[in-house]
Amino acid sequence: MQLKAPRGTYDILPPDSSKWQYIEGILKETAETFGYREIRTPIFEHTELFERGVGSSTDIVTKEMYTFKDKSLRSLTLRPENTASCVRALIEHSIYSGIMPAKWYYIGPMFRYDRPQTGRYRQFHQFGVEAFGSNSPYLDAEVIILLIEVLKRLGLKEYELHINSVGCMQCRDVYRQKLIEHITPVKDKLCPDCQTRYQQNPLRVLDCKEKSCHQAIVNYPTLSQHLCDDCASHYDVVKKGLKANSIDYRHDDNLVRGLDYYTNTAFEIHIPGIGAQSAVGGGGRYNGLVEDCGGPDLPGIGFAMGIERLLLAVDTLAKELDSGKSDVFITIMNDDYELQALELLTRLRQENIRAEKDYMGRSGRAQMKYADKLGARMVIIIGDDEIQQGYFTLRDMQSKEQVQIYKEEIIESVKDRLVKFRGGNG
Ligand code: AMP
Repeated sequence: MQLKAPRGTYDILPPDSSKWQYIEGILKETAETFGYREIRTPIFEHTELFERGVGSSTDIVTKEMYTFKDKSLRSLTLRPENTASCVRALIEHSIYSGIMPAKWYYIGPMFRYDRPQTGRYRQFHQFGVEAFGSNSPYLDAEVIILLIEVLKRLGLKEYELHINSVGCMQCRDVYRQKLIEHITPVKDKLCPDCQTRYQQNPLRVLDCKEKSCHQAIVNYPTLSQHLCDDCASHYDVVKKGLKANSIDYRHDDNLVRGLDYYTNTAFEIHIPGIGAQSAVGGGGRYNGLVEDCGGPDLPGIGFAMGIERLLLAVDTLAKELDSGKSDVFITIMNDDYELQALELLTRLRQENIRAEKDYMGRSGRAQMKYADKLGARMVIIIGDDEIQQGYFTLRDMQSKEQVQIYKEEIIESVKDRLVKFRGGNG
């Protein structure tokens, strides 16, 4: 049997890996510019963390987790998302007793057992940020501005930002009651999932994927009409913060985070051009989560974006990425010069110059062709004349011009030319 990667997973091969590096570079740089520092948590955690931290009634926990027992019969789960792990780390290392807010970002694989399709995988990658310790609505605005800045730096202009406020525990309790009263008479028209959850968690009906549920509850009372004064003014400040930064948004009554620890701001980014799975990222405030996971009463806010979906969007822009190209290729005209070539290769690489040679025993001509394939800007030729007289021949692969350079000057000469190339070609 031919072995294949498991369904819903895939390999990232060169040259595509250059695109990943490009996107990840922009994500990291943007987050660092906004004052977020990287956190790396384990790929697997105790199952209980996700049951508490993601919510035991969510699809993620009820249907999508990769859960297994290890050899000591502990129940472990491959992380389906990373907020719960960040909260666990915050509590475990008492980060909350240090300088606040704690601002973190992460990039890494997540795992969910779902039906694979374009933009949906079983192992996928998320970039996310979490900020703990402040309830300032200006921080909510900052987090959304960061999300938009990422899209801008990736050259993406066609996006839709949806926002809403889900209020605090108090105003949401009043609202929940009203919503249950609205839903109860039409409960038979809901999907089976919603029929079982609407009493306990009526907000989940609002973000249910089934159209029939939305039709059934038409003209439902909205959360934004039921916000208490504090929550309404929190939401107003967030919107003002976005406006002041020229960020367009759409208020979306259907955007709710159906779990108790979510509070106030909720948001989602869609890129319509990438297909059915158009949600690129989403997040919100979760002032109850740290306490729910056994920590102090500490507010938090964050978001996660799917890197695969970002890539789909960037690909539609046909971005040219040539970061895999070599700067210099060393061609030897004779096997005797293998050692000289290897030594020169090392010196070039120590100077951060992308240098390559042949390892397949190609002829001189074939080496030149190979250098062309690798996109090398220059070729250094080592032949009998060169060795006897103490120089290297340096060939410019664009102009085809060849010059002789003393051995001692080769590194500096290559460096100078690269500066000129880069200056000229951007
Ligand atoms: P969520 O944690 O469900 O709010 O997801 C945040 C983002 O992660 C989504 O907007 C997607 O871009 C991405 N995402 C979630 N699930 C998947 C998946 N199965 N495959 C690919 N990307 C995903």
